Amino acid sequence: MPDKTIFDIAVVGYGPTGATLASLLVREGLSVLVIERENDVYDLPRAVHFDDETMRVFQAVGIADDLVKFLHINPGMRFVDDQDNLLLDWPRDPDITAQGWNASYRFHQPDLEKLLRAYLENCGNVQIVKNCELRKATEVEEHVILGCKEHPTGSLIEFKARYVVGCDGANSIIRKTIGGGLNDLGFRERWLVLDLLLNKPRPDLGDHTIQFCNPKRPMTYCRGPKNRRRWEITMLEEESAEDMVRPERVWDLLSRWITPEDARLERNAVYTFRSAIAYKWRKGRLLIAGDAAHLTPPFMGQGMCAGVRDASNLAWKLAAVVQDRAGDALLDSYQIERAPHALAYVETAMLLGGLINSMDRQRASQFEQDESQGQASMKSIQPKLGQSDLVMSQPENPDDPVGRPFAQPRLGAGDILLDDMVGYRHLIISQRPPKRQASSDIICIAAQDYPPLAQLLDQLKTGAVWVRPDRYIGAVAADADALFEQMHLN
Ligand SMILES: Cc1cc2nc3c(=O)[nH]c(=O)nc-3n(C[C@H](O)[C@H](O)[C@H](O)COP(=O)(O)OP(=O)(O)OC[C@H]3O[C@@H](n4cnc5c(N)ncnc54)[C@H](O)[C@@H]3O)c2cc1C
Repeated sequence: MPDKTIFDIAVVGYGPTGATLASLLVREGLSVLVIERENDVYDLPRAVHFDDETMRVFQAVGIADDLVKFLHINPGMRFVDDQDNLLLDWPRDPDITAQGWNASYRFHQPDLEKLLRAYLENCGNVQIVKNCELRKATEVEEHVILGCKEHPTGSLIEFKARYVVGCDGANSIIRKTIGGGLNDLGFRERWLVLDLLLNKPRPDLGDHTIQFCNPKRPMTYCRGPKNRRRWEITMLEEESAEDMVRPERVWDLLSRWITPEDARLERNAVYTFRSAIAYKWRKGRLLIAGDAAHLTPPFMGQGMCAGVRDASNLAWKLAAVVQDRAGDALLDSYQIERAPHALAYVETAMLLGGLINSMDRQRASQFEQDESQGQASMKSIQPKLGQSDLVMSQPENPDDPVGRPFAQPRLGAGDILLDDMVGYRHLIISQRPPKRQASSDIICIAAQDYPPLAQLLDQLKTGAVWVRPDRYIGAVAADADALFEQMHLN
């Protein structure tokens, strides 16, 4: 008999990574404990952007239809010099992308976190303990003992879980318990971040994010949903945080764009933007995800997105292990796949940071992928998952689709999105149905029944494709039976 006092999974930290992971795990039928030090969502300015792939994970969680009401579609980012001359353009496709959503959304992080929490708290099989700080995680044979301190009483409380995922942010206690440390990639800058609410329309500010590149004082402007606007301003070495957040100082810094007549200052914070990645993401029954595993300067708007991708990569693997459908070596594929992917974003964000700190056309040209419009223009990067036993790719072939997300077309008379039809499960799409019986966690679809899927197989020049629950392509093969041979799920 399973011990009911032992949770399948304890998630430490109820930020966007922890809430996404817990929601996916609960959907998989696992018993989940969430431990969070604070009472409410973090309310200082943080993420304002996420992409289509991240939205697809929110779709899997079940919040996408509610979330779109809080979003603004982002047309892109422009890098300009001190005379407002365009150095580099990063336009985003205004149409729905292959992922089934818009390429880039603007949002208000507390709106998202509240929605994720409301959804999770309506599900069964989850216990959420707020005002509860994890102090110690000790692995014993079959589970982990979590020693916590309740706030404000100070009483000590213990929980047990088979696996623990530290989604506990930049200073993660689980990362420290795992050991191995952080690989500091060297970026370190202090920025003042200001969130404003417009009192009246200011269409002249524009919808694009603008990076004001300047070696003296780079700044960023972002359009948010509704009347929200964000400015981020580099701090000089001699400037103190106390001085920079004074209202007179803030309005002086913003005077080029806006005055107190036009807007109200809602929130401000000084952050040190860093770039780092943990050396070890797993030890035994302990794992880390989100900011606990990687830190990036926010110039690509990808820090939270990386945490959400971690959650999506990890949840199905944890479910397979806990439900005895796979051995626990499956969990080793998590860091192997996710770390290089997250690192690609961190490194590109650092390069963009270098451009923002200069007015250098030569630097801008590094990102240039399209000069057809007579100006330097970059595209969003699409890194691949690292090569694990579950990613049967051909690293030497740049066009190989394995390790990248599969598209999400609309299907059938109901025009239903692929993921809504399949759920968070393995999917095999093939020209011909497989001869052998698939296990219950794999759904098989014959491409001939759905023309958009047949078209996608043609584009991939393959007869069959394995799409994992996280929507990444695990393998392609001539037919479904050949694919089954390749799927190393145990
Ligand atoms: C100015 C700024 C702009 C940004 N812009 C973007 C953007 O546009 N797009 C984007 O994708 N990302 C962006 N980011 C990054 C993004 O905000 C973070 O990557 C994201 O919030 C990390 O989520 P998380 O859940 O991993 O960690 P957190 O949100 O840090 O959550 C960790 C949680 O763990 C809890 N916790 C910590 N220790 C313990 C403990 N011992 N016991 C119990 N609970 C604990 C904390 O209270 C917290 O609630 C930005 C960040 C900043 C600062």
